[in-house]
Amino acid sequence: MTTLDTGVKVVRNVGRFTFGDGAALGIADLVASKRTDKTKDAVYLIDDYFKNDYYIASSLGAKPTDAVHFVSTVDEPTTQSIDVLVATLQKSGHTTPATIIGYGGGITLDTAKAVSNLLTNGGRAADYQGWDLVKVPGVHKIGVPTISGTGSEATRTCVMTNLETGLKLGMNSDFTVFDHVILDPSLTSTVPRNQYFYTGMDAYIHCIEALAGSYRNAIGDAYSRETVNLCRNVFLSTDMMAAERRSDLMVASYLGGCAIATSYVGVIHPFSAALSVVFGLHHCVANCIVLNALGEFYPDAFVEFRKMIELQQVALPQGVCANLTDELRSALIAATVKHEKPLTNALGADFRKTLTDSRIISLFEKM
Ligand code: ZN
Repeated sequence: MTTLDTGVKVVRNVGRFTFGDGAALGIADLVASKRTDKTKDAVYLIDDYFKNDYYIASSLGAKPTDAVHFVSTVDEPTTQSIDVLVATLQKSGHTTPATIIGYGGGITLDTAKAVSNLLTNGGRAADYQGWDLVKVPGVHKIGVPTISGTGSEATRTCVMTNLETGLKLGMNSDFTVFDHVILDPSLTSTVPRNQYFYTGMDAYIHCIEALAGSYRNAIGDAYSRETVNLCRNVFLSTDMMAAERRSDLMVASYLGGCAIATSYVGVIHPFSAALSVVFGLHHCVANCIVLNALGEFYPDAFVEFRKMIELQQVALPQGVCANLTDELRSALIAATVKHEKPLTNALGADFRKTLTDSRIISLFEKM
């Protein structure tokens, strides 16, 4: 069995989805339909971007007996932060809710997926980092993305970093997939422009990496090609945030997630993960910083990316790897090369021949 055979096996898609402007107005009714006499309560995990909106929870159908938690987006999920949230829900008696609603960006959606699995499977988040370790289905879960790009709404993983081991890996499982996803492009109209660009590019990057890899299949390729087309519609247009473009990007995010569920990423994501683990940079901005420095691996995508970022007048953080110490260099190398599945997909099983320590560092020094 090769490295890549151990990952993608059978593909499970989202159970149901609702699409269109105003689709989010149906959340309260959907939640109500899941409540039963035995399981009356629901758990709302809402992106803390919305925490000053006093009516947000009630507008989503929350009742006084439900649990409402605002998910911090300062740091990406850690196995430790997930464990704390699960313990809090258990303490407040929300052990078998009718449904969990994740409303927000990738961090919030991933948190909802992880919590859903842990409430029914028990144990700690770190126990399930890997492939197909989740034993039984999680609590019914509804995903509502309020920013487009990560594809978290479609994938069978929820990315978490274990602060003790430095391992950034999700619970890759059929049980991690949302039961119902609500795609409402009107929710993304107020996203800050830079954030909108960085996050949207995650969908583009997933697919250019998948299409350049060796582990390919016709379904994954079709999803990837259409995702890239939609991203071009958005980021090569004069206004990436026009209503129709926001609709395009929401579809691209979903299809990009479906694409990645049947394939693997490539060189960009491992470098990006290292920037996240070592410097705490968020996933989507880190991806953009990496693509900007990895033109030698993805020459066409690099040229297109430069065109997009200039057209949309988005700024990219500079010099994030200036002043590297020996300790930081070792940490960056280790955090990059541990992602052997995507690196094998992109460069072959002997990827360390291409990606020597000194080459890895010279690439980071360009960022
Ligand atoms: Zn990504």
